[in-house]
Amino acid sequence: MGKKIAVYVCGGCGIGDALDIEQLSKVATDEKKVPICKTHANLCSQEGAGMIKDDIAKEGANALVIAACSHRVMYDVFNFENCIVDRVNIREQVAWSQKPGEEDTQMMAEDYLRMGLAKVEAMQLPEPYKPEQEISRDILVVGGGLAGMTSALEASKAGYSVVLVEKEAQLGGFQKKVKEIATMPYKGIKHNTIEDLIKAVQERENIKVYTGAAVEKTVGGPGVFEVSIKQNGTAAQHRIGAVVLAAGWRPYDPNKLDKKLGFGASPNVITNAMFEENSQGESITRPSDGKAVAKAAFLQCAGSRDPKYLPYCSTVCCTTALKQALRIKEQNEDADVFVVYKEMRTPGQAEDLYRKAQEVGVTFIRCQSPEVKAEGGQLTVEAEDELLGEKVLLEDLDLVVLATGMVPATAFGKDISKELKAEDEEKKEEELEVPLDIIRRSNILNLEYRQGPEVPALKYDFPDSHFVCFPYETRRTGIYAAGCVHRPMGIGSTTEDAAGAVMKAIQCIELTSRGAAVHPRAGDMSFPEFAMQRCTQCKRCTVECPFGAINEDEKANPLPQATRCRRCGVCMGACPERIISFKNYSVAMIGSMIKAIHVPEEDEEKPRIVVLACENDAYPALDMAGLHRMTYNPWVRVIPLRCLGSINLVWIADSLSKGIDGVLLLGCQHGDDYQCHFIQGSELASIRLSKVSETLNRLALESDRVRYENISIIDFTKLPALLDEFAARLEEVGPNPFKGW
Ligand code: SF4
Ligand code: SF4
Repeated sequence: MGKKIAVYVCGGCGIGDALDIEQLSKVATDEKKVPICKTHANLCSQEGAGMIKDDIAKEGANALVIAACSHRVMYDVFNFENCIVDRVNIREQVAWSQKPGEEDTQMMAEDYLRMGLAKVEAMQLPEPYKPEQEISRDILVVGGGLAGMTSALEASKAGYSVVLVEKEAQLGGFQKKVKEIATMPYKGIKHNTIEDLIKAVQERENIKVYTGAAVEKTVGGPGVFEVSIKQNGTAAQHRIGAVVLAAGWRPYDPNKLDKKLGFGASPNVITNAMFEENSQGESITRPSDGKAVAKAAFLQCAGSRDPKYLPYCSTVCCTTALKQALRIKEQNEDADVFVVYKEMRTPGQAEDLYRKAQEVGVTFIRCQSPEVKAEGGQLTVEAEDELLGEKVLLEDLDLVVLATGMVPATAFGKDISKELKAEDEEKKEEELEVPLDIIRRSNILNLEYRQGPEVPALKYDFPDSHFVCFPYETRRTGIYAAGCVHRPMGIGSTTEDAAGAVMKAIQCIELTSRGAAVHPRAGDMSFPEFAMQRCTQCKRCTVECPFGAINEDEKANPLPQATRCRRCGVCMGACPERIISFKNYSVAMIGSMIKAIHVPEEDEEKPRIVVLACENDAYPALDMAGLHRMTYNPWVRVIPLRCLGSINLVWIADSLSKGIDGVLLLGCQHGDDYQCHFIQGSELASIRLSKVSETLNRLALESDRVRYENISIIDFTKLPALLDEFAARLEEVGPNPFKGW
């Protein structure tokens, strides 16, 4: 693309008061000899945007540098088709965060304009990725329980064809075993309507149901998945656009519980799940002899919320116990029913069910550690009643029901994370310190992905997602988790979750069909391109991509799968040969932005700090600081990165060898409570940074010149002090000796 660069400088929103915008324009006109450079009092006005449109139409301007507000606002106004656009942020990050009229403030704006021009010179217009195969709009739903069937029905109603795979012989999942349910508005218990849902699914022409079936293989990526489904010894092939993983849950294994809870000591000690299975008939009976239950105790949190067993709360066990207690009371209003609990958790309107149980005479006993005794055919529960402060004996019980929690289907199967890692260890050239996820061979999706056959999980085996910003998302693009495989939930939440997941699957299909990225860079048309002639088959990109988007051939050549890519740039940062780039984001582009910064001589006593800021949290936090008119250090020059994981260490070398005094990396929190939009990006950046001392030693520089800080968007109030403190440390260390070289 032949570029005609045009620069537009806005004087509105106080920019013109803080800066000399005519002087600023001279960077473009005098220094860079840009053919078109204009100022305007309000570029975002109809007249201002119209001026730009006129230049595009009449002057052939097609590479636009707009020095005004942050790119995070007014994006619809400054969106010009078929043009390269860079937004130079002289409002939030200069005029609103620096002292007006000062030399340092003007110098900052001038540097940002130089950096914007360097960026635009290095950028190309992205072209949408078009796979060779036609994009499929069909949705695969794995799991025919409540979540799976709801997803299938929602997709079908929205006009998408569905392939529904259920491993059991019938649809319905666990709900098929449940006779009565407790759900909104929680005024009492109701008859389960799962059969109606099964019928509705079976009646839809655009839902193809496979029961007694399993997904044997999943190849490809969003829009172009090739899925092989095995049923009765035969295999059916389907082209699929996106996947909803609704594989459900299994009850926590009661055999693993503390023996004090009595499981196995008597057939009359059962779990809440067994209660459902055993009470399909008219009456609720004790398993040992079929006698109707007249006295029962429900023991809550059996193993749940206990680090030794199941550390989390499954959210539904309390409501389930209330429902089951009510069922016994419905059968026999004189039955003695006890619920022994640590805390009753009945959120929202489920509190009404709690009240109803109290009204019909269910007795609640608060006790942290009840004990079940099964001696001489007698069942007794011993409980320390915390409210009465005395020991309570519940004797001659017909039934003890243990409230065991939910374990996601993805938790079963062997954890092969270490094996996958070991394979890399053997073949690596340098140490690959990629954080380990849990990846199990659990035989649900059987993905042909270099990074393992199933969706990765965090420590509790739920398919990991950025819960705050991207519910439903897994670490495999185009595969969305729904229902209890996603997190423990009841009926109401499951139906909502299933609808949400299928909406994300539809969004993925539609964006993929346009060649665009899904969240978080929704709509981004760029994708990584590999200059394969220079690839050394080091495997860094294939190992570090957080989304398993790059497969490998037998010679370890990377095989990028563009529709799986989320455009984070982690592979670009990982590649030691620097052969991965995007049309509008590359190692060279950021390098040229760094080189565009004017570094004053040592005697001018104007240090310079390059801030490489994650554009998802740290960069918005800087904008927020400006928005709140918080003044911060004028030496900083901020460069937004798609993800800190895209950092290539050459940028640090480039900065320091140019005489920049320090480099600050601002990224998101990592670890189990990570905030990184690209999951492992910020962690990979900090791992790469731990190896930077070698570069610093080579340049004979102090390690204090480079620092990593976690910043989330709400931390903006901390930013001015953080930048000042880093600047003060650099003053102590002294000027970069490379200044002026
Ligand atoms: S690392 Fe990011 S940009 Fe690279 S292939 Fe993976 S998802 Fe795409
Ligand atoms: S593209 Fe780069 S990171 Fe990936 S294998 Fe080749 S040299 Fe290594």
